[in-house]
Amino acid sequence: MPRPALAMLNDVDRILISHDRIAARVAEIGRALARDLDALSEHPDEIVLVPILTGAIVFVADLIRYLPHKLRIGLVSVSSYPGRSIASKGALIRGSLPDRLAGKHVLIIDDILDTGQTLALVRSIVIEHGPADVRTCVLLRKQRSGAAAIEPDYVGFDIPDRFVVGYGLDYNDYYRNLPDLVTLRAEAMR
Ligand code: 5GP
Ligand code: MG
Repeated sequence: MPRPALAMLNDVDRILISHDRIAARVAEIGRALARDLDALSEHPDEIVLVPILTGAIVFVADLIRYLPHKLRIGLVSVSSYPGRSIASKGALIRGSLPDRLAGKHVLIIDDILDTGQTLALVRSIVIEHGPADVRTCVLLRKQRSGAAAIEPDYVGFDIPDRFVVGYGLDYNDYYRNLPDLVTLRAEAMR
């Protein structure tokens, strides 16, 4: 992988989780998930992954290649950290939700869990469509003082309560293409 441009590297405070560690953990989650999906159903076309845009795109792209099942992907777009915000402004669904979820095994996937509002919102809307079951998977979970609104079924890493970017996560839509998960210098977040 190429070295990130200095315009990004100069904004990095420190690397929290290297790409190598992320890749190893995604492989573990992918294999565990594949075993669980095997046990669920012999019928193809009953599994639907629902990744939450935009932060989950990199995670999901890596994760699905560990899943050999015949499955569909239905993207959902939620905005909670618009523009330059680094604290949740409340989760809001943008656009429409994936259809044909009735009777399916649904797995909702997000990049990071903080308050749990985003995942709880998407799960409640998915449940309205009458799926057979709903699971949730996040790459990262922030250690916070108050309990999150939801306990995910699959968690990649527990991380400190810091604002992080890279591996799909953004600040003001930048840094999603950084291979590592990093914190930013204060000067970069103005
Ligand atoms: P929650 O709804 O659980 O409070 O927040 C989850 C959503 O907020 C995630 O989908 C993600 O988009 C965003 N988010 C939470 N923490 C961070 C963070 O540290 N960095 C970035 N880039 N986004 C975050
Ligand atoms: Mg998000």
